[in-house]
Amino acid sequence: MGQARRLRALKAASPLALAARRHYPIARMSSPDAAANTSTQHGRRGAADGDPGYCGRFAPSPTGPLHFGSLVTAVGSYLQARSNRGRWLVRIEDIDPPREQPGAAADILRTLELFGFAWDGEVVYQSRRGEAYLAALERLAAAGMLYACTCSRKEIAAVASLGPVGHVYPGRCRGRPLAERQAWRVLTAGSRIRFRDLLQGESEWDLEASYGDFVVRRADGLFAYHLASVVDDAAAGVTEVVRGHDLLACTPPQIHLQRLLGHSTPRYMHLPIALNAQGQKLSKQNHARPLDPRRAPQQLAAALRFLGQPVPAGLEQASVAELWQWAVAHWSADAIPRAAALPVDR
Ligand SMILES: [Zn+2]
Repeated sequence: MGQARRLRALKAASPLALAARRHYPIARMSSPDAAANTSTQHGRRGAADGDPGYCGRFAPSPTGPLHFGSLVTAVGSYLQARSNRGRWLVRIEDIDPPREQPGAAADILRTLELFGFAWDGEVVYQSRRGEAYLAALERLAAAGMLYACTCSRKEIAAVASLGPVGHVYPGRCRGRPLAERQAWRVLTAGSRIRFRDLLQGESEWDLEASYGDFVVRRADGLFAYHLASVVDDAAAGVTEVVRGHDLLACTPPQIHLQRLLGHSTPRYMHLPIALNAQGQKLSKQNHARPLDPRRAPQQLAAALRFLGQPVPAGLEQASVAELWQWAVAHWSADAIPRAAALPVDR
């Protein structure tokens, strides 16, 4: 049986596929041409520049409430979209149930609204996009780019070197046919990825040496972040990805998948990440305080200042709407510090 047929059989048998099929009609990806329902709310009317084909997104994982670090990313991606008179989408990356917190997705969306963000189209939930991810896996398998891996974490750690995002998988299982309860890896041999980040500059990566063949579908049947992210960005017509610098190292594998799947590569802007007083990234693990909607203007002003925007003194006493009005009119990507990370209080 060829890999493609084998995959089709797998797809029919997979409980995940059935679950995905059940949910699929509920949330369809909004088409890139769909009429924007809210995009003019903070649209920069009258601006002569801008890219009307621009599409950006904010894609939080529902692992906990938004904190100041998430706000910085949301503000950066939102203002890039609005100052370009483009669209801004929200995607909930809920493909890893063991890491998720019940109610977090609803809490994130409520917080975004209270902070005055207005997204275009329907919110996309990755948990309902299984069909699209399976279709991408089928295409990769049909192209002979996938194989199953039976190595344990321990076995890999024992032989692998360390790359920018952990162990470099040495390709031991190459050629192994796809099977249901095994991880699926994508071939990376010979793939060199060069890209220019709008803030962090140009970099070049040898995928095989830096990452090795990486997992696109986990042994537990869950889809890997790189695959889901690439499939969803392409389906939504995202033209620019604005996210935290901690995800810069995810970009080369994602560009690799874009090429294999025939998708165009968006522009990338990796913002400096926010550090606490101990120099750690603000995160749920480090007990970052959740955003407080009662202090939305102050926290928005702080996020803007973090991104190098000269918010006039006293504007944090104004309303959220006034703050956004100023921010959209004065947004300057050139003013963002070209750093990997910065302390919050500097
Ligand atoms: Zn293996």
